[in-house]
Amino acid sequence: MPELLIEGGTVVTQNADREVIRDGAVAIEGDRIIAVGTTADLNDRYDPDRRLDASGTAVIPGLVNPHTHVSDILLRGSCGTDRGLYDWLFNVKQPGIARMTAEEHELAAALYCAEALSAGVTTFVENDAEMLLGETDAMTAKFDAYEAAGLRSIYARGIRDLPVDDDFQGLVDRVAGRDPSVEHPDQERYVEPLEDWLEELARLHDDYHGSADGRHEIWVAPVVIEGMTDEGLREAYRFAAARDVMTTIHTAEAPGQAEGWLSPVEHLRNVGSLGEHALLAHCVHIDERDVRLLGETDTRVAHNIASNMALGNGFAPVGAMRSHGVTVGLGTDNAILSDTVNPLADLRLAAMAHKGHHTDPGVLPAEAALDMVTIEAARSMRKGEELGSLEAGKRADVVVLDLDLPHLTPVPDAVNAVVYQTLGSEVETVLCDGEVVVEGGVPTGVTEAYPDLHARATAAAERIVEASGIAEGER
Ligand code: FE
Repeated sequence: MPELLIEGGTVVTQNADREVIRDGAVAIEGDRIIAVGTTADLNDRYDPDRRLDASGTAVIPGLVNPHTHVSDILLRGSCGTDRGLYDWLFNVKQPGIARMTAEEHELAAALYCAEALSAGVTTFVENDAEMLLGETDAMTAKFDAYEAAGLRSIYARGIRDLPVDDDFQGLVDRVAGRDPSVEHPDQERYVEPLEDWLEELARLHDDYHGSADGRHEIWVAPVVIEGMTDEGLREAYRFAAARDVMTTIHTAEAPGQAEGWLSPVEHLRNVGSLGEHALLAHCVHIDERDVRLLGETDTRVAHNIASNMALGNGFAPVGAMRSHGVTVGLGTDNAILSDTVNPLADLRLAAMAHKGHHTDPGVLPAEAALDMVTIEAARSMRKGEELGSLEAGKRADVVVLDLDLPHLTPVPDAVNAVVYQTLGSEVETVLCDGEVVVEGGVPTGVTEAYPDLHARATAAAERIVEASGIAEGER
């Protein structure tokens, strides 16, 4: 018998038949959905312990974010805008992160969770690119915040094993020359021998994968192809396949990264790093041959429309990827770039921007767009059997969106409304694993665990920006 019946809402199931059920209901027992149907039908079948009146709402699957970074949320608004990738990375992000304490990483994680949950996110993949080898205190402090928040956190531990050469150091120096007042971290601090990374990864996975009642996972993130040896890329994929997790890599994000004899996708193919255990972030500067390789190898992609636009990196060939059967989820990437970690806001942007860029209004229809933050996003991280749709047997990750608002009136088609009309601020209730984690728009667990979160995060942000010299950087 269900413990909870969410009833009376428009249920957007995202199942294979794309059913949308008016006056629909979702029955939940423990951490699972046990039935989805009309309110009348489920009331005939069940006498639940509790009921949640969802009239005037859309009931959608918990949103899934396949690519994001967490700690730099505290650098939001700190001269980080209107810069290209390397300018932003070397002059803002890396200097800021290098000055953060473990407690500040934890505050960043709490703030991230509060915002993400309030926007309906129940699962995210964190690509932690700047965490140094052995910074266990900072990593586990973040894990504490994720557990308190109650959502699903996938921590992809960043690794980098290619020694810094003169060409790369020259690039860093020229970019850093723009902001001499900033304290630029030495690039060598991020590079460690592969065996040391693999040893730490194994320990992290042994100790934390499956923690937080199974909601927390450990993956591996070779940060960027240009920072990795061939052996490092190969071993990262092997680690992911052996432990049944995924590897996630920034790939062909900016134009310069696609230069050379081999495309980045071919390079990954040749070292054995494409396949169902690989989730590539971006894939903006790839051609038709690369897209075909991604499709043939069942490699997954996290598209990041807002960050690609903010950094002036261009538009990923999402239409071509769909045509070749590539599984594509939509990520929010860095909060510091798009200034949000709000998938519904980015979803609207993606659905509109691709039509304009590709001069094709059918390149990303509303249903396909919604898939990119629900079922396709779940598949992009090999979780399509568990997450991403409202169906009996799946995890009870559910979002209730208020539709009784001026900008959501009228709603003849709930899918269109969710994609084109929502702002991401309509979230009333969120369940993760059957537990209520947002109630009345408030992320309850993280709010209780971190009182005065906004004031503390603001104070921490000011300290970090001051200590790193970012505050004096040029705009
Ligand atoms: Fe990223």
